[in-house]
Amino acid sequence: MTESERILTGIGVSPGIAVGRAHVLSVSLPVVPHRVVPKDQVEAEVERLRRAVGEVREHLEALRDRAAQRAGPREAKIFDAQIMMLEDSDFLGAVEKLIRENQLSAERAFEFKSLEMRALWSASSRLRERLPDLSAVQLRVLHHLLGQPVEEVPRMADGEPVILFTRELTPGLTVQFDREHIAGFASEEGTRTSHAAILAHSLGIPCVMGLVGSLERVRSGMPVILDGAHGLVILEPTAEEIKSAQAYERRRLALERELERAVDAAAVTADGVRLRLLSNVDTPEDVELAVSHGAEGVGLLRTEFLVLGRASMPDEEEQASYFAEVGRRFGDKPVVIRSYDLGGDKFPLEEGRFLEANPFLGWRALRVCLDRPDVFKPQIRAMLRARAEANIQLMIPLVTQVEEVARTREMIAEAADELAREGKRAASELPLGVMIETPAAVMLADQLAEASEFLSVGTNDLTQYTLVVDRGNARLAGRFTPHHPSILRMLKLVLEAGKRRGREPSVCGEMASDPLSAFLLIGLGYRVLSVAPLKLPLVRWLVRQVDAGSAERAASSALEASTAADVREILEKAIGEFVDLKVLEAGRLPRAKRESSLSR
Ligand code: PEP
Ligand code: MG
Repeated sequence: MTESERILTGIGVSPGIAVGRAHVLSVSLPVVPHRVVPKDQVEAEVERLRRAVGEVREHLEALRDRAAQRAGPREAKIFDAQIMMLEDSDFLGAVEKLIRENQLSAERAFEFKSLEMRALWSASSRLRERLPDLSAVQLRVLHHLLGQPVEEVPRMADGEPVILFTRELTPGLTVQFDREHIAGFASEEGTRTSHAAILAHSLGIPCVMGLVGSLERVRSGMPVILDGAHGLVILEPTAEEIKSAQAYERRRLALERELERAVDAAAVTADGVRLRLLSNVDTPEDVELAVSHGAEGVGLLRTEFLVLGRASMPDEEEQASYFAEVGRRFGDKPVVIRSYDLGGDKFPLEEGRFLEANPFLGWRALRVCLDRPDVFKPQIRAMLRARAEANIQLMIPLVTQVEEVARTREMIAEAADELAREGKRAASELPLGVMIETPAAVMLADQLAEASEFLSVGTNDLTQYTLVVDRGNARLAGRFTPHHPSILRMLKLVLEAGKRRGREPSVCGEMASDPLSAFLLIGLGYRVLSVAPLKLPLVRWLVRQVDAGSAERAASSALEASTAADVREILEKAIGEFVDLKVLEAGRLPRAKRESSLSR
């Protein structure tokens, strides 16, 4: 094996180092023999199918209970979804029809319809990710009908750690293990958001997915190192590699313990500067995570999930109850709701879907909302209604003109009048914030601050529009960096413009969730950061390690740098005085804290 063949790269979906022996699990499709069912026995055959489905249901329920107990209620829902797939009446109806009309055996009919369904799901970008769930369910039914045992589950032999390699890791397989049984998972397929990845993360088992072609190179019994933070697998490692992997793991575990302690601590720097750490919330699942990780409010509540993958827009009622529910969860702390940011990288409305030569420069975000009061008004009304019970605020994305703020204000006033006339319980005003995510907004930050109640910098789009780099283009990923000196200067401009108008601008782009960049933002003078919920402990811990004074000195010299590489070097040198850079990226969610929060 050459040096490059020894190292496999994939996607790290659950951090941690595992050193042990590989066990390759090949889950192959069972061979289904052809068998014609005599006419007078088709009903008994249908009955046999139903029995198998019932038994698989019981098995899935047991897995669900196990997941609830070991990972949490959110993870248990994965198996509820599998039960729904199993009992899909259209699907089962079609299988029964095949048995009755074509006299096929239950297994043959089931296999036939399963293949059809898999082909359908494979063609849909939305459903493709759930294919492992579907295969797990279908394979289990098939094995049941054929009277064959399902996966053979390897256990740790003689205390020697086992790292399981499969083509596709299913949630059912993942949840059967804990760290005493299995040291790590590796699979050829799967992504960070697949259900098995979420489960491995919750169970605290290191996992790497997307290791294309790995099964050709790995043999059962082969010694391996799996690095779940960096998405690496090293085959037949040297003693030196094992030693350094183990040392890294010790540092990582120490950081994990520190993060756990930081969850309830105040975000105050070592030299006494207080920061406010808010959370970004993308979906309802993020709400509990944000609360349990100590968010001091929501700095960016994305509302696109309400629309994506749906045939029609959600109505005012649905939005009002979601906004009020999130608002209540945060008591009197602010919950900043961003109006729909559709188009560009998010699917446009079904009805507005048309080809644009440059969608990122096109009809999107606030532009859609202002042109379509039938879309924007119900959202504003929902926010006003929720504000009657909680500290709800509105923030508008992709602003390039001061008039857009004025027009939004008019719409808020119109909506408030309507609600008052209708006698509905609602607030009469709504604090309005502007996202600074275009160079135009940066240059007008003083006027936008004047026209609104608050500013928040969306560094993802600001980087994209300033550097003219599509944020989703993998080929340009190396060019997409908020450490570009132009972005630093813009961040400084916005902060100063806001402060001159008595505002305290925040940052809600991904930059705030990255420790090195958070250090830079503190140095630039930002005191309010809105962070991805799972990154809150890491950022809070970081804040507590560093000196704001030192961050300020680093930021000043970074502002003079001429390249992003120089900026990084300055930041790494400065932050290196306070924290071990090597382990920073491995900072994972403290597991115990997460479990307790989810089972609340
Ligand atoms: C941003 O652009 O930085 C931002 C926070 O918004 P989104 O990532 O949703 O575009
Ligand atoms: Mg944006």
